[in-house]
Amino acid sequence: MVVTYHRPTRAIIHRNAIEENTRNEVARLPKGRELFAVVKADGYGHGAIATANAAKRAGATGFCVATLDEGIELREAGIIEPILVLSVVFPSYLSVVVDYDLSITIATHEWLTEAQQVLKEIDAKRPVKLHLKVDTGMGRLGFRSLAEVKEAVTFIEHDPLMEWEGLFTHFSTADEKAAGYAYWQKQEARFKEVVTGLDYLPRYVHSSNSATALWHDDEEKLGNMVRFGVGMYGLNPSGTLIDAPYELKPALELVSEVIQVKLLPKGEGVGYGKTYVTPAEEWIGTVPIGYADGWIRKMQGFSVLVEGQYCEIVGRVCMDQMMIRLPQAYPVGTKVTLIGKNHGAEIKMQEVAEYLDTIHYEVACLLSERVPRLYQE
Ligand SMILES: *Cc1c(COP(=O)(O)O)cnc(C)c1O
Repeated sequence: MVVTYHRPTRAIIHRNAIEENTRNEVARLPKGRELFAVVKADGYGHGAIATANAAKRAGATGFCVATLDEGIELREAGIIEPILVLSVVFPSYLSVVVDYDLSITIATHEWLTEAQQVLKEIDAKRPVKLHLKVDTGMGRLGFRSLAEVKEAVTFIEHDPLMEWEGLFTHFSTADEKAAGYAYWQKQEARFKEVVTGLDYLPRYVHSSNSATALWHDDEEKLGNMVRFGVGMYGLNPSGTLIDAPYELKPALELVSEVIQVKLLPKGEGVGYGKTYVTPAEEWIGTVPIGYADGWIRKMQGFSVLVEGQYCEIVGRVCMDQMMIRLPQAYPVGTKVTLIGKNHGAEIKMQEVAEYLDTIHYEVACLLSERVPRLYQE
């Protein structure tokens, strides 16, 4: 998809917000614990490279991505710090992993056996860096027991083309209150059992996502690195449930402009299917953003900001455009804020998420490649 620059719709990314959030988190970390910035899915829609560079300036010493290609993108942009691919990479891609010096996640013994064969065949120039993942209750990826982890470590020790670089797990309820806390503790205990049951530990031991880093930082045995994701973008991992220990500054604004403004008489239909009919004479503005931009049809009925006033999205959201009800006539080119501040009023990504009955992570990721990301300080 081509990035559409010749249109007033854009996501403005405030690099200083990313830096400030990261810096605040780095400052809270116990001595010896590092921060790896999670920039998967194009930096949660904020732009992976710009986010990684901002995080680096603020003290991040490594990065996490979800896929091999995302890791390659960072390396090609000149990132020289450790990069961990959080999902599983097939052994058949190992030559690429080694070429780009990426660290990868290992979840099964079968993978190791298969990889040993591949590494031999490709005559790898240096060992591949492996992080063993322990499934302590997320039920997604990882070894299920200390015995399995021990077996994997022994296997790696016997292969000079494999390097054991990390051990980690992932929490599923760190962003919840009481009920989630019991389960969090159960996961932590299981991880602790593995960590303390091994003869020695690798360079990195890590378990904290943003929620764990923000709200469980006092716990022991969480490791020497945190994988900080959503908080870096200024979004509270719990939505509105738990306050963060410092102010999280949202990094993304979504803006556009009205491209046509007209006075419709009473009884006129607006949009496909004529789901909205003007109940009286009304000013209707057209905004060049639609579901192809990730501003999905379910946004019908929500509001955007024009000159500090909430204007309802009326009629169905189209692929490339939508219509809003204006309180009065405004000139073409008047700014429309879909996410962010406008004349003292503010629409948060969390509010969009609540309207869509989802989480802000998903709203950020939905914004398509067509929407240009413009970077500001
Ligand atoms: C996405 C992800 C993170 C970051 O989670 P946030 O909630 O955004 O901080 C950390 N670890 C793993 C394994 C992930 O997949």
